[in-house]
Amino acid sequence: MSNALVVFSGGQDSTTCLGWAKSRFEKVETLTFDYGQKHRVEIYQAKKIAQLLGIENFVLKFDAFSQLGDSALIDSGMDISSAHKHKPNLPASFVPNRNAVFFTLAHAYAQKQGINHIITGINQTDYSGYPDCRQNFIESLELALNLGSESIIKFHYPLIHLSKAQTFLLAKETGILDIVLQQSHTCYNGDHNTWNDWGYGCGICPACMLRAKGWQEYEEKFTK
Ligand SMILES: [Zn+2]
Repeated sequence: MSNALVVFSGGQDSTTCLGWAKSRFEKVETLTFDYGQKHRVEIYQAKKIAQLLGIENFVLKFDAFSQLGDSALIDSGMDISSAHKHKPNLPASFVPNRNAVFFTLAHAYAQKQGINHIITGINQTDYSGYPDCRQNFIESLELALNLGSESIIKFHYPLIHLSKAQTFLLAKETGILDIVLQQSHTCYNGDHNTWNDWGYGCGICPACMLRAKGWQEYEEKFTK
């Protein structure tokens, strides 16, 4: 057993990863990126969840994505429910190379902290089709980053093939479901005031709809 770093956005998936990591590793730390995302509530909730669990949370700030502004998650002029300006097959919420940058920085932070395991909540099953959430991408990046730094740091992605319903089940199994429901933030409209059975959110943006559908399936398949 050793130490692990969870790449932690404060959303449903990375909060579930925190439960998964806590059940497997002796010590767990979290790393949150402040990259100019429109909804600051994400960073606030990430800090709050880490505090509630007594886990260290380091917030790494950088404004390169704000300067690029090529996503509805950053540029308020873009409609979240439309297609991406330059990638018609992807939603406007896609941030080009976001995970490549996040995981590269996480890998550097892990080297600094002497951590050999990085956990990310990427998922290729029922998300928005982001190509940087696929297993072949993360495997390639892991290889490149370890070659480029003479490191042996393992990336773990326990949610990669899970549906949102199965992710709720994993949260339940690792004892973190209440925190996922009450504290994690998913909503693309930044709504953390409207309560629903599945947590806080507007209920109509693509992220809320996916989370709501997953909760409904979880209740039907795993609680009856
Ligand atoms: Zn929403």
